[in-house]
Amino acid sequence: MRSKIVAGNWKMNKNMEETEALLAEVSAKLPDTTAKVMVAPTFVNLASAVNQLEDSTIEVIAQNMHFAESGAYTGEISADMLLNIGINTVILGHSERRAYFGETDEILEKKVKAALAKNMKVMFCFGEELADRKSDNHFKVVESQLKNALFGLDASAWSSIILAYEPVWAIGTGETASPEQAQEMHAFVRKTIAAAFDQNIADNVSILYGGSVKPSNAEEIFSKPDVDGGLIGGAALVADDFIAIVKAI
Ligand code: 13P
Repeated sequence: MRSKIVAGNWKMNKNMEETEALLAEVSAKLPDTTAKVMVAPTFVNLASAVNQLEDSTIEVIAQNMHFAESGAYTGEISADMLLNIGINTVILGHSERRAYFGETDEILEKKVKAALAKNMKVMFCFGEELADRKSDNHFKVVESQLKNALFGLDASAWSSIILAYEPVWAIGTGETASPEQAQEMHAFVRKTIAAAFDQNIADNVSILYGGSVKPSNAEEIFSKPDVDGGLIGGAALVADDFIAIVKAI
């Protein structure tokens, strides 16, 4: 059975005091839920977030990492550094990393393999741009993103992978993919994984939707059979909104 997950990607938002305050409010208001709840604050606040949430079921995850073990990579963070402060899950392949920091499928494959080699879990993001959807290439683009970064993995790696479909045109734009568009893509992804690996792997991988999820649309998106939760940006920065989205799952 695949897990239901609601994760907040805080991106480059919230200083130390704001992080502490938001985490305190979210954990105090967290409802009883069988879903996994995750938050990804910025690197500088990860260690304090882990400490603050020590007794909470909320998991603190990282927004990125480098593929190298260690060494001369100024400004970068390794898997070991994350593990050392109690972080076991990392977001990789976010469209903002791809667009603004030159992360290619090839780099992402290395990052995914590096994280898995350290027994970390990977939340792998993918999704088409508006032009791809307009030209009806969205399935092709998504298939190649998955194939290039993930299809060289061993079948056993899939128990450590969470997928997040984030159509670029829906991120931070207020424009959400319709629940039908999300379902259609998630079903396509599951079918593609079943063909490349097997049905069991496809059935057991959680596929989250991300892109302008908010309290008003979360329930309908989450009601779709192949949507296993959400990766939330803007709405994760407001405790009541994030909690409402957790309640919608
Ligand atoms: P928004 O929810 O702000 O559209 O961001 C989605 C996202 O990029 C999460 O990773």
